[in-house]
Amino acid sequence: MKKTFDALLQRELDALDAGSRRRRLRAIGYGDGGLRDANGRSLTDVSSNDYLGLSQHPLVKARAAEWAQRHGAGAPASRLVAGTRDITLAVEQRLAAFKGREAALLFSSGFQANATVIPALTRLGAKVGAGDTANATAIFSDELNHASIIHGARAARYPVKVFRHNDLAHLDSLLGAHAGRKLIVTESVFSMDGDRADLSALAALAERHGALLHVDEAHATGILGPQGRGLAAGVKGVDVVMGTLGKAFGAFGAYIAGSRALIDWLVNRCSGFIFTTALPPPVLGAVDAALDLIPGMEAERARVATHAQRLRDALAALGISTLESTTQIVPAVIGAEADTLAVAARLDAAGFLAVAIRPPTVAEGTSRLRFALNSQLGDSDMERLLAAVATL
Ligand SMILES: *Cc1c(COP(=O)(O)O)cnc(C)c1O
Repeated sequence: MKKTFDALLQRELDALDAGSRRRRLRAIGYGDGGLRDANGRSLTDVSSNDYLGLSQHPLVKARAAEWAQRHGAGAPASRLVAGTRDITLAVEQRLAAFKGREAALLFSSGFQANATVIPALTRLGAKVGAGDTANATAIFSDELNHASIIHGARAARYPVKVFRHNDLAHLDSLLGAHAGRKLIVTESVFSMDGDRADLSALAALAERHGALLHVDEAHATGILGPQGRGLAAGVKGVDVVMGTLGKAFGAFGAYIAGSRALIDWLVNRCSGFIFTTALPPPVLGAVDAALDLIPGMEAERARVATHAQRLRDALAALGISTLESTTQIVPAVIGAEADTLAVAARLDAAGFLAVAIRPPTVAEGTSRLRFALNSQLGDSDMERLLAAVATL
């Protein structure tokens, strides 16, 4: 039985190999102040989501270590059992203030938050258990939304209407055609294209159709908006704000921010919050330190924006599409998978950690390098990157 199973797995892996689609894990190390490949060769990071370099910031690392020493390596219980510490609530309060919302709730990861909060919201007002379709909530999801949102939407077991990317006229017509409760889900910065949603227009549309609006700020939190508070900051009518702590925050985990009622309700109704272990003290310490630093990092945010514009200009001059990117995420669309891998290998040889993104993560024929720039890159790094890119 085991043998047949492995043979089946191997056949699928071979098929992925044949289509240049097999993904392999590659270990990188951190040493002497930078990333290193397996041979100790220094790599310049132009791919990770550590936009402000906070994962290596001395204050962030020190507070993670300090809170581990003081509070322990873990908080080994779920939040409702014995996992809620004073520091857990204090960090949640700070996150709520940072996002300008009444309350916030920590989650183990952004994937877990989207995958479980979205189905929980669709059951709001419906009778517990399947079958109460009269009160079910339909989900309206941007076609480029992250896999975790798609996962959450499918788990909801209620209708999912996918609207064309950032096409508010299409969304408007879909909303108008649906009589029941509605939930709109979008990202504020799209993770593979680096473009933005028009949150004010979405909020107005949600208001007009009586829909709830859930916004994923994974790639905006810390890096965009006033003082890095995200693109939903100050936008009225965004009901549910999700963000991650593993990207610009340089730590791990995620949060939902919103009204006090929303947060209290999730504590009672969201499986991905209730049935999992609380975030450990060192992670909370890192988040706490990141919250001290992020509002004041305007110079770093400006540097990242300048880097991104330079890269977009260089790629445009080469005739390489960067789609509608206006953020630190800059796609360089190559097209075919094998070509994209070859280009990534060439950048790697030039000392850059640049990762090829292929289907099914992005659509067929749009394989790309996904550059994600960070404030640790100096002007000389950018010169080197632009020179390497020019040879593509
Ligand atoms: C990374 C990401 C997530 C998942 O967050 P994790 O904390 O890494 O699980 C969710 N949504 C978007 C748009 C992301 O880019």
